[in-house]
Amino acid sequence: MTALRSPSSLPGSSKVPNGDRSAPAAGFRSAPGGLPGRLSRVAQLLARLPGVGEKTAQRFALFLVTAGEDTARDLGGELVELCDHIRPCIRCGHIAELDDGGRALCAICLDTRRDGALLCVVARVQDLLAIERSGAMRGRYFVLGRLLSPLEGVGAEELPLEALRARVRDPEQPVREVLVATPPSVDGEATALLLARELGAMGIQVTRIASGVPHGGDLEFADQVTLGRAIEGRKSFG
Ligand SMILES: [Zn+2]
Repeated sequence: MTALRSPSSLPGSSKVPNGDRSAPAAGFRSAPGGLPGRLSRVAQLLARLPGVGEKTAQRFALFLVTAGEDTARDLGGELVELCDHIRPCIRCGHIAELDDGGRALCAICLDTRRDGALLCVVARVQDLLAIERSGAMRGRYFVLGRLLSPLEGVGAEELPLEALRARVRDPEQPVREVLVATPPSVDGEATALLLARELGAMGIQVTRIASGVPHGGDLEFADQVTLGRAIEGRKSFG
């Protein structure tokens, strides 16, 4: 990998004598009998990852120093590259890699086979990825980044509504239908209602994802709201 620098070119490496690479960075203390300070710091950073607890983070940190130097060095190099080259897509907010001109456009916005008239609005990139995995969405997306939350004081002015209006009006990709795929929670529903009002006033057809019982699930374990909505949203069959 060309982006990786040799150890001798790393900043500050000349100050570290050979055989003393395990010296903790200033400010990182090693607990008695615990991990060296620097390794402990790596474990603390890993513990910030979603779903990674303290023990798992320590296991990861230990793996990185025992699996061979290349693993830790490659991972570190890739993470630095990631920060320099990844940005939100300028059109939809999905994750994109900067092109040679310094512009971030994601693969979905660049895919000409997508139906540009159908726009799916989601709260987070993770939701976009989940919908993509279903294979059912052939249009494009718009990532809000957050939901309306009256209880937490997040008002309409904190949502990217102006960017969404501009996206919908884009003469190069006029939008006919906006599918609101915010989660079926209080905040998700409040956001969906706001979008229906705002976009409906612009003459756009606004649809909402249906909610119902999970595939393979038992009806007796479904909560009342989910089951109620599954019945309200029933469709002709057969
Ligand atoms: Zn995009």
